[in-house]
Amino acid sequence: MTAESKWLIDPEDILAVRFECGNCRAAVSVPIKAGISTQVNGIAAGSCRFCKTPWEITPNSAEHKALQQFAAGIEEIAATMAGRPLKVRLEVRGEGKL
Ligand SMILES: [Zn+2]
Repeated sequence: MTAESKWLIDPEDILAVRFECGNCRAAVSVPIKAGISTQVNGIAAGSCRFCKTPWEITPNSAEHKALQQFAAGIEEIAATMAGRPLKVRLEVRGEGKL
């Protein structure tokens, strides 16, 4: 028998968004309370600080705007849902097997 584990994540559990280079695995974590929706502009439109791999995201493109909206949405949903009786949780696959 195989069981699959799942994790439930509350928006208020999200501390930061991690941007990781797919080439060298260098990463930067931006705390959502540090204004990530504004910081994502510079990060997404740039390249890896270590190996210089370009992210290939054109400034002001649809994909750049999607990243901005994603970051802004995380900030907004955490603030909006804090302390409410309705819980909004993300269900994600857990690591390993039970
Ligand atoms: Zn890199």
